[in-house]
Parts: sequence; C-alpha cells; structure tokens
Amino acid sequence: MKGMKIAAVAFACAMICAPGASGRGVKAPMVTGDPGIYAEVIAMLEREAAGQLTRHLQKSGKLRQVRVDIRLDLSARSMTINFGPGYLPGPEGSYDELFLQPMASSLRFFAERSGLEVNDIHFLFEGKTLEDYYPEDLAVPMRSARKSAPTSALVSSSHGYISLHPGREWEFQRPAPLGLQEDVLSPVYGDELQVLMEQRSGLVVHRARSQSTELHPESNLPWEHMSSRYHLKALFPERADIWNEFPNSTKPAREKDEDIRARPNYANHLGVDVLISLHSNGHDSATIRGTEVYYHRAKAQDKPLADSIICSMRELIRAQPGYETFPVRETSNPGDHGENRIGKMPSVIVETAYHSNPDDVAALQDPVFRSAAMKGVEKGYRLWASEKACVPLAGKAIADVEVHSGKRMEVDIPLVGNPQYPIQIITTNTQCPPGWTCGKGKQVVNSPDEPTRIGVSCGAGSSGTLGWETHVLDADGVASKPVPFSVRCVPG
Ligand SMILES: [Zn+2]
Repeated sequence: MKGMKIAAVAFACAMICAPGASGRGVKAPMVTGDPGIYAEVIAMLEREAAGQLTRHLQKSGKLRQVRVDIRLDLSARSMTINFGPGYLPGPEGSYDELFLQPMASSLRFFAERSGLEVNDIHFLFEGKTLEDYYPEDLAVPMRSARKSAPTSALVSSSHGYISLHPGREWEFQRPAPLGLQEDVLSPVYGDELQVLMEQRSGLVVHRARSQSTELHPESNLPWEHMSSRYHLKALFPERADIWNEFPNSTKPAREKDEDIRARPNYANHLGVDVLISLHSNGHDSATIRGTEVYYHRAKAQDKPLADSIICSMRELIRAQPGYETFPVRETSNPGDHGENRIGKMPSVIVETAYHSNPDDVAALQDPVFRSAAMKGVEKGYRLWASEKACVPLAGKAIADVEVHSGKRMEVDIPLVGNPQYPIQIITTNTQCPPGWTCGKGKQVVNSPDEPTRIGVSCGAGSSGTLGWETHVLDADGVASKPVPFSVRCVPG
C-alpha cells in the first residue's frame, strides 16, 4: 500500500475501515364487460357451486338439487351467485356463513386460476339478498362515534368447544383435516397480537375467550379451549342477550350460532374502539391457501382498516426468509360474517392462512410466520388509526456526490414507508478503483426523529470514483431494495 493513493468512504459511526484509510360467449348477460369468452369458465363455476351446495344440504339430510346462476362483472371484479328455489339460509345456522364464505373463496380461486380477476362475491337467493329476507336481523348497527384517540381493542381468537344439543357432547367447532385445530391455534396468535397492540399501539386489549388453564366445570375441559360463549356466560350470567341469542332454537349446533354473535356482542358491551377477529381458514380443497382479511360489505367504512392490515401483513410476512412469495391477497375482501356485522366499531376478520393446505399449515405452526403475521396486523391497525397510508418500505434515489480528498460529507438516504425502529442503514461497495481500500458500513438510526444519513469521506490525495449501494433493514426484518449511488473523490 505504500506510496499508493488511498481513498475512502466512511460511515458516520459504525464504519469498518482501516486506520487512515477509512475506506466502502354464450350466455351474453352473465359477463359484463367482455361477454362470451368466459362462458365455459362460468359454466364450470356454476357446476362447482351447485355441487358444493348439494353436498352441504346432504349433510343436513336434504337430498336436493338447487340451480345456481353466476354473473360476472369484470370491471367491478365482482361475481354474483344466484341460488334458485330450495335454498335460503337464516339466522339459525348463522346464515350458513361457514359454508358460503369458503364457497366464495373457492369460486374466487378457481376464477383467478382461469384468468378472471375477482375480488367481491355476492350471494343472491332467488334474485334477492339475505338483507331483503331478514331486514331487521341483518341491519348493521349504528356505528359508535369514533373517538379522537382510540384506547381499547377486543382481540377475538376464533372458536373453541361448543356443546351440541341434545346429547351435550363437547366438540371443537372447526374441522382439522391436517391435524391443526384452529380452535386452539388462534388463541396463540391472539396472545402475540395482544402484546403487540399493547406495546406498539398503546391500547388496552380485551380478549373474547378465557386464557385460564383451569377446567371448565361443566365440560371438564380447559377454559382456554372453550368458546367465548361460555366464558361470557361465566362473566355475565345475567346477560343472556350477549351469549344466548337463540334460546328457542332446535338446531343441534345452536351454541355455535350464539358464539358467533357473543364475540361482537361483547365488543359492543365493552365499547372498544376496534374488533379484530383472528382465524385460520379451511376448505375442502387443499389447493386453496394464503392470507385474507375481511370486512362486512354493508360497512364499507371498515374497508380502509382491512386494506391497511392486509397490506402490512404482506410486507411483514414476505420480509421473512422462506416467505418471500407467501400468498397474501392484494386487497381485503368484502364478506357477510356476523362477527364483522354486529360490532358497532370497525371490525375485521383476519384469516391468517388455510389450515387445510399443507404449506399454510407449516407456516401457521412456525413462530417466525406467526410473529410476522401479527406484527403486520398491529401495524396495519396502527397506520390506519393514525391516518397513515400503508406504503411498503423503499429507498428513494440517493444523490451522487463529489468529495474533496481528505474531506468528509453527509449523504441523505431518503426513504418511504413506515419502518419499525431502530433501523439499520447498510451500505456495501460495488465499485472500488484497483488498489484502493473500500469497505462497507452499517449505521443504526434509533428513531424517526433522527436523520437517515451516512457520512462518506475521501482519503488525502485521492482522486477517483467509488460505487456504493445502500438498503435499510428495520427492526421487524423488513428490508428495502438496495439503491446505488457514487462518490467521486476529487483533488482538494
Ligand atoms: Zn374460523
């Protein structure tokens, strides 16, 4: 090195450098927009939907064929499924949402496989909506006034044991085709989300189910595995309006319907500012997978919250090694879930992944995925609550600079996004003149109040151009793409 000109780029604090060289068609009306060409796909979807319904009705002892007509509106990316005579779900059975929502997911999936972009799925029953048949029960409650600063949330973790009538057997609500039981999985997700919402959003977080490991006396099963309905019955024995909405029902699974309503009823009772319901999704078809977030179609004001959550979940999940291409929908989906309808506050359902798909099951059991998914939910909520857009972390162009030899200069590293602090600014060398010493640098920025900036310097007597690229890594593992810039060392 002796006698050689040395140029260097150094980084304000955490530099790695040598001393002195701080150097680095057919049924025309069924498709609006492009009639005809998708006729075959639609006919296939109609057969699929009719087949699903036949199997569903058979389970309750009804042997019946119901006609299904599907219409597609390509410009609105929506699909309307119209059931013919012979099928009308009602309040008991929760309007068959545990059948119709999976049907919507599968039709959306098959349509997208066929090249049709579909996000919104409407169900009609002989041409009318369920609201037309049950206007009173399906009325969306008056929204409570939004407080200037939200203070509390209800985190509701899916289902749990219910008692079946008349035999009073205790059963989990959800099937577990691959052995992963949603009823006991989602409370673990709830625990993670609760801590995040307390620490990062500063909210008081209530839970819809008991977290006690003691035994529920009636069933002799752990309290933490019981449905919310029984927990609320124990908390508020006199408030049957919360947990016993169908006292006269004759349905064997009536307590499942009561449980669906008990959770948002509890949110209304508490007067929380937001209701987040955590689920894993399930489907007869193992091919259907990925992350979805739902809001109620009659509460369009909840869509921005749902969109912010799916957007932040996508950023956090895909930032984790091995999950770079994990399927997360582009936007939230409208749905008809009672859990979202009944709450007077913004209410969303997070379907983190499918417990019926092997890849999703592996993810659901991975603490890295769980943590990233729940950080995404909290971040999505927090951005929405503070009226910030969900903008994925990215570096903006960094200006090329000219530095006099023997001098040092501060270079701004402009960013967009909402990183979790502390963040690291990581810079590596891409071009180093022969014989020079060029290193790399890492600088920590502890809060958004500090400037995102690095120092570059050129050694005495140096003259030449160095290439660098810089990316940012946040505390949740979210990284921006590297942005190149150059430093020209010029004689001082
Ligand atoms: Zn569920």
